[in-house]
Amino acid sequence: MTDSCLFCEIAAGSIPASIVRRSDRVVVFRDVAPQAPVHVLAIPVEHYANLAQLSAADPALVSALIEEATAAAVDEGISDGYRVVVNAGWQGGQTVDHVHAHVLGGRQFNWPPG
Ligand code: 5GP
Ligand code: ZN
Repeated sequence: MTDSCLFCEIAAGSIPASIVRRSDRVVVFRDVAPQAPVHVLAIPVEHYANLAQLSAADPALVSALIEEATAAAVDEGISDGYRVVVNAGWQGGQTVDHVHAHVLGGRQFNWPPG
């Protein structure tokens, strides 16, 4: 666990969150400011700042993250159509420096994204 990382603290249970799934290496919880009727975040328990660092260090954990994200879509009843988004870096819109996959569904999405 990395000190003063919000998502490390959520994974550890020291900051409360509405957790919807948990495996040995991944936690999925509801986003506090949902952008769609379903909006959950899948995070590795282990701290990686971004997708590049995670994929370089542990490709199996990338796979586990996507597995839990897609399983959450099934749990949440949105498996007919949803979006998985990983914002990376400042210009990509990443605001929390612990890698996370957004899983959004329950409404129509547009392309290109904003
Ligand atoms: P990013 O902008 O880094 O891709 O996404 C960060 C996400 O974390 C945002 O959608 C934001 O609403 C969510 N978030 C920020 N703080 C908290 C929190 O304390 N609890 C939960 N559940 N979500 C949070
Ligand atoms: Zn962290």
